[in-house]
Amino acid sequence: MGRGIDFVSERARMVDRLVRSGYLKDPTVRAVFLAVPREAFVRPEDRAAAYQDVPLPIGSGQTISAPSMIAIMLEEAQLRPGERVLEIGTGSGYHAALLASLAGPKNVVSIERKSSLAEWGRSNLASVGFADVTVVVGDGSLGLPDRGPYDCILATAGAPRIPDAWPRQLNPQGRIVAPIGSSPRAQVLVVASRRSDGRLDVREGTPCAFVPLVGAQAWPK
Ligand code: SAH
Repeated sequence: MGRGIDFVSERARMVDRLVRSGYLKDPTVRAVFLAVPREAFVRPEDRAAAYQDVPLPIGSGQTISAPSMIAIMLEEAQLRPGERVLEIGTGSGYHAALLASLAGPKNVVSIERKSSLAEWGRSNLASVGFADVTVVVGDGSLGLPDRGPYDCILATAGAPRIPDAWPRQLNPQGRIVAPIGSSPRAQVLVVASRRSDGRLDVREGTPCAFVPLVGAQAWPK
């Protein structure tokens, strides 16, 4: 499947649609969507659908988010080159590749609880030149203190509340972008910024539906 498809044109058309529908406003974020081949991060049988604005299954009951949702999150993250990022939930590695294009591959650490997905995500990243992104197997609800502090912690799985561990691993002015909600399948995108007194300014945005964050400071198994 997918052979003979002009992925470069498909990608450009997807970016045009995201711009026209108002999801992509920041030219830097637009450029990274044009640079990262989404078809390298979906299952072979889904390649023809790689540029539709829908979530796609990636195995183990998990999904790669729809491009419009990722666009919203990346615009909220306001990443600058050189900033350190922790992604919670590597999955396919697609979101990590976009983060790496914005912040620099060596500045991105992504943590995944399922070792099979971590391995797949890592090999997808390497296949398109992002071998320098660090992928770690572990429980991201606890953050990853050894590699911090971070300028941004971005979660791609939904938690009942912001885990206590995350704000402690942020730099001053650091941001958390995460789907938060009292139901495991329905959240709002929360953007939280660390103030100088260490507390968080929390803003609630777009309603969303991510897979659950399963872990010690999130949903039980
Ligand atoms: N960012 C991914 C989306 C993957 S879906 C992409 O671009 O494809 C969310 C992922 O979060 C799943 O792979 C799931 O296994 C993972 N996950 C769930 N709970 C987790 C936890 N506590 N720590 C790390 N990863 C977790």
